[in-house]
Amino acid sequence: MNSDLLADNPRPTAAAPVLRTKAELRAAVAAAKRGAQTVGLVPTMGYLHDGHLALIRAARAECDLVVMSLFVNPTQFGAGEDLDRYPRDEERDLRLAGEAGADLVFAPTVEEVYPDGLDRFATYVEVTGSLTGVLDGDPARRGPEHFRGVTTVVAKLFNLVDPDVAYFGQKDAQQAVVIRRMVRDLDFPVRIEVLPTVREPDGLAMSSRNAYLEPADRDRATALSRALAAAERGAREGGLGIGLEGARRELAAAAIEPEYLEARDAETLAPVHALADRPVLVLVAARVGAARLIDNVLIHPTNANLQS
Ligand code: AMP
Repeated sequence: MNSDLLADNPRPTAAAPVLRTKAELRAAVAAAKRGAQTVGLVPTMGYLHDGHLALIRAARAECDLVVMSLFVNPTQFGAGEDLDRYPRDEERDLRLAGEAGADLVFAPTVEEVYPDGLDRFATYVEVTGSLTGVLDGDPARRGPEHFRGVTTVVAKLFNLVDPDVAYFGQKDAQQAVVIRRMVRDLDFPVRIEVLPTVREPDGLAMSSRNAYLEPADRDRATALSRALAAAERGAREGGLGIGLEGARRELAAAAIEPEYLEARDAETLAPVHALADRPVLVLVAARVGAARLIDNVLIHPTNANLQS
C-alpha cells in the first residue's frame, strides 16, 4: 500500500464511549465494582494534550476501569474569566482518551451536574484558610472561590465514581495540595496520585490555555519555564533569594511581569525563605498575551542544600 495512504488512514482506534448522565455513570461503575474491578478517575476540562494523556496512561497501568471526566466546571470560573471561550473539541478528546486507554468518558451538561441551576446550588465543599487564600486563591487574583469550585466538583465526582485512585497533575500544584487536604479532612476513601508536569520540547508546560497564545506570545511564554529552571539552579547554588532574582531576570527579559513568583512549602504553602529539609515549590503566574499561565518547580531537599 502506498505510504501516503497509510499516513492518511492511521490504524483505527476506538474513541472512548461517552456517558452523559450521572445514572449511566453510576451504573457503569457499579457493574465494574460487582466484578471486583479497581476504578481510576482522571478529572479534566478537556481539550486534551499530553499532560492529560499521561494521567490516563498512568490510570490504565494501575486500574481495571479508567474513567475520564470531561467537564468545564462553571463554579470554578470567576466573573470575567474565560468560561465562555474555554477551548473545546469533544470529538478529538474522545478519540485521544480512547487511544490513551480510557474505558469511558463522563461528559455531562452543566444542568446534569447542577440540576437546580448555578444560582440555587447551595452546598459547597471548601478547604478554608491558608491553602486557598494565597497564590491563585488570593482575592486579588482568582480568589478562594476558584478552589471552592474545584473541590466541590471533585467531591461530586468522587461521590459518583467512588474511585480507588484519582490522578492529578503537578502543573496545578496548588490545586493538588488543596485536593489532598480535602481528601484527608473528609476521609474520602481514594488514593491521590500527582504526576509530573508534561512540557513541550521548549519547556512550556502543556495547557489547554496555550491555545490562546499568538505566535509571538507563544515564544515569550517559554520564559516561565526558563525562570523556574533559573530559580532552582540559583537556589541550589546560592540560596533561594538568588534563585528568585535569577527567575525575575528571565521573566523581565521577555517583558513578563508576573502576578506572583514565590517560594512556598510544598505541603503547607507557607512562604519559605531558604531551602531546608522540606520540599519547596517555586510557583509563577503571569499573563502572556491573551492567556493567563501558571507553572511551578518542585525543589527536593538534597544533602547539598542542607550543607549550604
Ligand atoms: P485541566 O483539564 O486543565 O483541568 O486539567 C486536568 C488535569 O490534568 C489536572 O489534574 C491538571 O493538573 C492536569 N494537567 C494539566 N496540564 C498538565 C501538564 N502539562 N502536565 C501534567 N498534568 C497536567
